[in-house]
Amino acid sequence: MNQPLPTPCNTGSTIRQRGQHEVFCGLTSIIWLHRKIPDAFFLVVGSRTCAHLIQSAAGVMIFSEPRFATAIMDERDLAGMADMHDELDEVVEKLLERRPEIRMLVLVGSCPSEVIKFDLGRAAERLNARYASRPRVLCYSGSGIETTFTQGEDNFLAALVRGLPGDIRSGRPAQLVVAGSLADVVEDQMARLLADLGIEDVVFLPGRSSDVLAPIGPQTRYVLAQPYLGATAAALESAGARRIDGIFPLGEEGTTAWLQAIATTFGVSASRFEAVTAAPRRRAREATAHYRPWIEGKRIFLFPDSQMEPSLARYLNRELDAEIIEVGSPYLHREHVAGELAMLPPGVSISEGQDVEVQIDRCRAARPDLIVCGMGLANPFEAQGLVTKWSIEFAFTPIQGYEQAGDLAELFARPLMRQGLLSGAAS
Ligand code: SF4
Repeated sequence: MNQPLPTPCNTGSTIRQRGQHEVFCGLTSIIWLHRKIPDAFFLVVGSRTCAHLIQSAAGVMIFSEPRFATAIMDERDLAGMADMHDELDEVVEKLLERRPEIRMLVLVGSCPSEVIKFDLGRAAERLNARYASRPRVLCYSGSGIETTFTQGEDNFLAALVRGLPGDIRSGRPAQLVVAGSLADVVEDQMARLLADLGIEDVVFLPGRSSDVLAPIGPQTRYVLAQPYLGATAAALESAGARRIDGIFPLGEEGTTAWLQAIATTFGVSASRFEAVTAAPRRRAREATAHYRPWIEGKRIFLFPDSQMEPSLARYLNRELDAEIIEVGSPYLHREHVAGELAMLPPGVSISEGQDVEVQIDRCRAARPDLIVCGMGLANPFEAQGLVTKWSIEFAFTPIQGYEQAGDLAELFARPLMRQGLLSGAAS
């Protein structure tokens, strides 16, 4: 059940961890980004390890009509760098001959040392000059040394904003940019709600086509749909846009607060807001209530993974009455998640970064009812009789917005339901 909004920050000090972490690298974000922008192609400049990661993470999609690939760079000394540029040009030439429909080519850097030494920005510039920006060539780093999987999206969106040609910026700017990859079904619902609120010239970033991105200027306001977009926010601000502050659109309360922040910025009347949101709010509350019996009172520990953890914890506590033990996040964009942290109940541990062994010990000692963690940690916990949920599912599943509130609750409820069935069968 919703509790009243607290004003001050409820949480104590943050546990800062600088040890080993267990999170997928930024290349993983290609899996949802390539679906989102059908005319883009993601070319990983990497090693055979990167190729294996992309192929296994993408599963069977690689055998159909892939829109991502890996240009494999074998080990070489510095003198071989010039050849690497030639090799990459050759790979790109063959790719574009075979796939002339590609409108945006994205070179994605990785972490093998020979790739780190390679100047991807220069390669993108050279390819843009060679193909006269048809396709437009962008680059960003998805390296596991610098990025976790959601930071890969952040780097890509920042490159997208920075790569806007000057003449696009000179036109009529967008009123509102919604930044952060959302499933198409969610984007459509959000677009409808914003249109019903009377907000025009709304641009979603990334868009579904490489060509469509309205100019961004000082009149533009932007709102983050995902909490992990520090670099994107900086790029938007350097283009003149100003951020609308708020919590993130997870659950009925989060979605209402997110829309309310936008509505207030654009001067939408309270009566119009109520008329537009009343029915979907009711549906979201009903869908959530269906799963509450499985989750209320349960003690939940969230390991750092997607950076969505503070929002998920707020939703679990306030809408599903779960007790939160610890909320980990690989990185906290404090300005962006201040509202989320303020809504957590007093006494919740917040941890930033990871020192995995120490955190596992804390988790075991707490004996939570549910652990939200990466795939690598889940199996050992399950083997010890603990119940887990893979946190990467929150990145792949449409969970934002009113109509997805029930699906979000179900993601948490399912492992607890399964546990209930198993223990019922055993007794
Ligand atoms: Fe591994 Fe680095 Fe390639 Fe990611 S970018 S698959 S961490 S080698």
